[in-house]
Amino acid sequence: MSDYKAKFTVIPCAVCGQLVDVDNFGQGDCEHCGWHQSETCLKNPDTVAYPNMVSYNKAKSLYKQSLPLKPSLDDFIAGLRYYKEMEFEYKGTLYAVCKHSNNICFSEYFPSDSFEAQVYYTYEEFAEKAHIGGKLLKDIWEDVKNADYMICR
Ligand SMILES: [Zn+2]
Repeated sequence: MSDYKAKFTVIPCAVCGQLVDVDNFGQGDCEHCGWHQSETCLKNPDTVAYPNMVSYNKAKSLYKQSLPLKPSLDDFIAGLRYYKEMEFEYKGTLYAVCKHSNNICFSEYFPSDSFEAQVYYTYEEFAEKAHIGGKLLKDIWEDVKNADYMICR
């Protein structure tokens, strides 16, 4: 007999209140609003912390306004500070942003000749100057999709 089911509990999502299956660690993804249940995020309600891309308080506010839990560029950079390796999609291309010991590297996830990797030395410099095809990332952020912690492919 499998005890698979015994490992899961159903709780109301911390953001939208819909029922979510969570594991022994209280972790589970809400299919309704996209919030990942996480004790860490609830304990630090104004901080962007893995696996969520927006803080708990911001998630609640966005949900109340019927908006998706989409990170701003500042939220994305907060995730970068925390996790070091981030990704996002813009016009069908996947990009990677990685924090190394002394710089931040912005490149295509799958490098091609059409995009030259950019190196920045502070988060502020990255936020101000990172660009794609001459357009500043901060100006095109509305069109960025799937900004998230990097997952192995
Ligand atoms: Zn939810």
